[in-house]
Amino acid sequence: MTLFQKIIAREIPADIVFEDDLCLAFRDISPKAPVHILVVPKRVIPRVAESLPADMELLGHLLFTAGQIARSEGVADSGFRLVINNGPDGGETVPHLHVHLLGGRPMAWPPG
Ligand code: AMP
Repeated sequence: MTLFQKIIAREIPADIVFEDDLCLAFRDISPKAPVHILVVPKRVIPRVAESLPADMELLGHLLFTAGQIARSEGVADSGFRLVINNGPDGGETVPHLHVHLLGGRPMAWPPG
């Protein structure tokens, strides 16, 4: 079971901001911005490079949901960033696909 499956199962506490049949969104435990939320599919996809054609609708749902949460968190107009880390060089630490929603401060480009 991945760490995020344990959060989905309520075995580990989290500050949940949104849930539906397909995904759960909660605040990152080590926030890198004033708003830092993880949008996680309930069905485990380890990482985006291992997603399957059958996952396409779910992947779209995660992005759509992240945009809706950006609105409800009040950062849609000021701007925000969505990040998906994939593999070692991408900085992935939890092998359960998740979209980082970061907002509430200006973001540098390119990322370090
Ligand atoms: P990544 O490095 O892209 O795999 O992102 C994993 C994220 O999960 C990191 O930003 C961590 O701070 C976050 N994280 C780890 N454990 C928890 C937890 N128990 N609750 C919320 N976020 C967590």
